[in-house]
Amino acid sequence: MAQSVVDRTAEKLELFAKIKDLAKTKNAVILTHIYQRLEVQRVADFVGDSLMLSKQAQETDADIIVFCGVHFMAETAKLLSPEKKVLLPDIQSGCPMADMINIEDLRKFKAEHPGAPVVCYVNSSAAIKAESDICCTSTNAVDIVRSLDSEEVIFVPDKGLGAWVQYKVPEKKIHIYDGFCPTHWQITAEEVDRQRIVHPEAIIIAHPECDPEVWRRADFVGSTSQIYKFVEESAGKKFIILSEQGLVARMQADFRDKEILTVFPLPLCPNMKYHSLENLYQALDQEFTEITIPDTMLEPAKDTIDQMIEISSRKKMWSGPKSA
Ligand code: SF4
Repeated sequence: MAQSVVDRTAEKLELFAKIKDLAKTKNAVILTHIYQRLEVQRVADFVGDSLMLSKQAQETDADIIVFCGVHFMAETAKLLSPEKKVLLPDIQSGCPMADMINIEDLRKFKAEHPGAPVVCYVNSSAAIKAESDICCTSTNAVDIVRSLDSEEVIFVPDKGLGAWVQYKVPEKKIHIYDGFCPTHWQITAEEVDRQRIVHPEAIIIAHPECDPEVWRRADFVGSTSQIYKFVEESAGKKFIILSEQGLVARMQADFRDKEILTVFPLPLCPNMKYHSLENLYQALDQEFTEITIPDTMLEPAKDTIDQMIEISSRKKMWSGPKSA
């Protein structure tokens, strides 16, 4: 038994080295979302949330971007670096929330609220971005909505984040689309109440993609990067994280002097776990699956993201987890 564990570790280390060598040979950069498996985070050049990875995609001088995240993230990288080859190791890696809205849905929603600018969460397809006015991430959604010169705003597709923005920006009327993240919405208010009783000394932290009944019960609400930074800088010793398991695993690995707990059942996004060292190596070696975007969408969708980056670049960016 012990022998097979050693062999497996040796195999992984060998694969890790092969990926690094191949990436160097092909001038490729590996961008990995923090919800990915830890082994895929370890081999990455950059690990972060959507905003940080978008910025990396825009700034890289690599010829190839291997994106270990879900489909809309790889699309965003392609929009920001259209001249580069962008690869998604496992094409099954989509986002159910992003798939909850299509162009017809958005046009109908816009017609119900004429004149209101459309803010689309980055968790949306290139087609939705092309039809929107400005993009946002969970880190900058509040700032983006505040920056708009309009009393009414359309927000798509996430109703959890939309409700959070409405709470933070009460002076504007936000028309919120009915999409949601199945992983974050599986966390219930009853489970949070139970955790509060079992661990009264813990600081409870929620991602705004959760049901508002859940984030209202939290001590701190923040995006992935904001949660990471809050735990890193807090004097607290025990935390309950109401977000995806990959972030929890990463913080458990990085902050060993702190107790980092989560809820039951474990909030795990299966779509974020398709990529592995094995398919990452194959994708880089054979250069699949390449992300393409129709020419008609490229400029308007890119403009939507560029505007977001322009506004958020006035603030200091997160530079990713403390260890690679
Ligand atoms: S965690 Fe939620 S929003 Fe993120 S990829 Fe999974 S389903 Fe989509």
